[in-house]
Amino acid sequence: MVLVFCEQREGSLRKVAFEALLVGYKIAETRQTQLSAVILGNGVQPLGQEVVRFGVSSVLVVDNPALEHYTPEGYADILTQLVKQYQPETVVFSASANGKDLAATLAAHLETALLPDCTAVEFDQNGTLIATRPIYAGKALATVRAPDARPLVISIRPRAVGPAEEKPGNGTVVAAQLTPSELRTRVADVVKTVLKTVELTEADIVISGGRGMKGPENYALLEELAAVLNAAVGASRAAVDAGWRDHQFQVGQTGKTVAPSLYIACGISGAIQHLVGMINSKCIVAINKDPEANIFKVADYGIVGDLFQVVPLLIEEFKKVKQS
Ligand SMILES: Cc1cc2nc3c(=O)[nH]c(=O)nc-3n(C[C@H](O)[C@H](O)[C@H](O)COP(=O)(O)OP(=O)(O)OC[C@H]3O[C@@H](n4cnc5c(N)ncnc54)[C@H](O)[C@@H]3O)c2cc1C
Repeated sequence: MVLVFCEQREGSLRKVAFEALLVGYKIAETRQTQLSAVILGNGVQPLGQEVVRFGVSSVLVVDNPALEHYTPEGYADILTQLVKQYQPETVVFSASANGKDLAATLAAHLETALLPDCTAVEFDQNGTLIATRPIYAGKALATVRAPDARPLVISIRPRAVGPAEEKPGNGTVVAAQLTPSELRTRVADVVKTVLKTVELTEADIVISGGRGMKGPENYALLEELAAVLNAAVGASRAAVDAGWRDHQFQVGQTGKTVAPSLYIACGISGAIQHLVGMINSKCIVAINKDPEANIFKVADYGIVGDLFQVVPLLIEEFKKVKQS
């Protein structure tokens, strides 16, 4: 059995859940074994019916008030219990913030192998899993042959693969009655950030600003463009380190990985640590006044110019297109 952890937030499945399902499906199909999924949370039973449509033979749902908020301790404990009971040969996670945390904790609990943050999964002629992992901040790609340890725990970098497609089948949803052992940590409160725009990693269009924005007040310009395009606003680390934007908006090696349909980089030079976080975007537009800026090497469209002149023109033009 291949077991896929399907991440949910506040009762909705996250995009990364369907990416993990795609990889799980491929592994199960190659190994000719069954595909199962697991959902943990409180009030999440209905999500089982959503996942069952994706070619899984069973969805294990652990619905328990103790799992209302994510805690590595509680979630890893339940997953360890499930893995011991069902003995999957591979457990697939997304390498999201929670997925990275959980995959490592589960592998440690089970004293087994972990292949973290993979961007592709293939098989050799003997059916051995061969994973691709970016290393040295994405400067090189390592091809890793999976060890024989079972279960193999693997996590998939968000947006590195597409989402799974629905497949006809007759899978079942199983309510697994499990309770985590006594938790030493308790989530007292969750303070939500009020976002004016869509969430960065879920957005179809991302507009990021770097040091070239010159100051925090100028992000209003990007927010205006984002409002027209229904986009999220990201930032380079230089902008975050300067205190212009919160770290949650940072794109790159030490920030978030995004792969939207359209990524517009404004006043960003294109350092490798930034590129690794957005290189998989389908279309990259760069606005930079330096024609030699590295960002132009990865851009599909480059605009050499002052962003304070270019962005207002874009806002004007996109508004016209929307109105027509
Ligand atoms: C371990 C490590 C991890 C890192 N992680 C990250 C990460 O996650 N994300 C990240 O972004 N960086 C990261 N960095 C930092 C990275 O190396 C760069 O320093 C950073 O990305 C630079 O940000 P920037 O492009 O905004 O600034 P700069 O490199 O200073 O570039 C600013 C650009 O703006 C242009 N510009 C200026 N004014 C205008 C204007 N009016 N109109 C148009 N263009 C203009 C300039 O020509 C220039 O190209 C990391 C570094 C290290 C060592």
